[in-house]
Amino acid sequence: MTWENDLKESICTIAQLREYIEITPKEERRLRKVIEKHPMCITRYYMSLIDRNDPDDPIRKMVVPSQKELNLSGSYDTSGERESTKMPGLQHKYARTALVLVTNRCATYCRYCFRKRMVGLPTKEILHRFNDAIEYIEKHEEINNVLITGGDPFTLPTRVIKEFLESLSTISHLDFIRFGTKVPVTFPDRILKDEELLTLLRNNSLKNRRVYVIAQFNHPREITQKSSDTVDLLIRSGVIVNNQTVLLKGVNDNPEILAELQNKLVNIGVNPYYVFQCRPVKRVKSNFQVPLYRGYEIVENTKKKLNGHSKRFKYIMSHRSGKIEIVGIMDGYMYFKYHQARYSNNIGNFFRKKINKTAGWLDDL
Ligand code: SF4
Repeated sequence: MTWENDLKESICTIAQLREYIEITPKEERRLRKVIEKHPMCITRYYMSLIDRNDPDDPIRKMVVPSQKELNLSGSYDTSGERESTKMPGLQHKYARTALVLVTNRCATYCRYCFRKRMVGLPTKEILHRFNDAIEYIEKHEEINNVLITGGDPFTLPTRVIKEFLESLSTISHLDFIRFGTKVPVTFPDRILKDEELLTLLRNNSLKNRRVYVIAQFNHPREITQKSSDTVDLLIRSGVIVNNQTVLLKGVNDNPEILAELQNKLVNIGVNPYYVFQCRPVKRVKSNFQVPLYRGYEIVENTKKKLNGHSKRFKYIMSHRSGKIEIVGIMDGYMYFKYHQARYSNNIGNFFRKKINKTAGWLDDL
């Protein structure tokens, strides 16, 4: 079976979900309401990681729709993506980085996704004309890297990924190219079954611009033989693999789990990069967000269990004003620092807010 055929076998309907999980008629009515708004798709591989007998299984929580998604508190654009959009599918928020949204499709739809407004749905936010994006990046010499994202760019055919890489490789001021993808976690066969993709990545990473994969492992149980083999093949193809984890209630909001995850990632060759505060996204916030105060305690207790290499990540809130590191708590205040900023003058700025133990986002403090 090709990876494309495997993907077609994914669980995208309630009837298919029922093969794995018991659902009462009442639950079914509610779930239908949820997936009418935000589609469900789970690869058979990722579904196999779920413990069917545990309704609170953390892998299940990340991808199986829940009636809690009917809670509409929050926003659909928490990081100011609209303000950063220069043309459909191209965002330029931080001077050095251009973000290209190449698809609205993913192998598996995560229920906590911060681009919930567009993944799996009709949208005008993805790239229409690749040449216009190339022209924009060419004109803006301050841009030294491009993050290809979506959706998940690795759901696209390899020939399309090749076109992107070939066009970008002609731009001399680019130092490296990143792919934001969850495929190593939710659908490793996309990579394991496609030698052509690996050759493409190898040729670009070793002979041209270094290719980075930004993966998103959130729980140690996602590190399986298949996902480790995928990471290994990427590394052997000259790709550098970094990981950003989202701190998620009921999934990894526990120092033991978070420490095990970071240690295992380093063990398979993945570099810890960020731990993200879950954004206050509609249909996500009430189900997944951990308050900042508690998040800080979890992250600090996690770090106590890690060696220096495994704790290189920063605990970050990706706010509309910039990427804000949560750096400390002292004498009734929380301390923050701009790691990246929409207005570059703010980079490095340090500030504090009075502690509010229930606040989940800067705007709540
Ligand atoms: S793979 Fe990424 S873009 Fe797709 S649903 Fe998950 S978090 Fe969102």
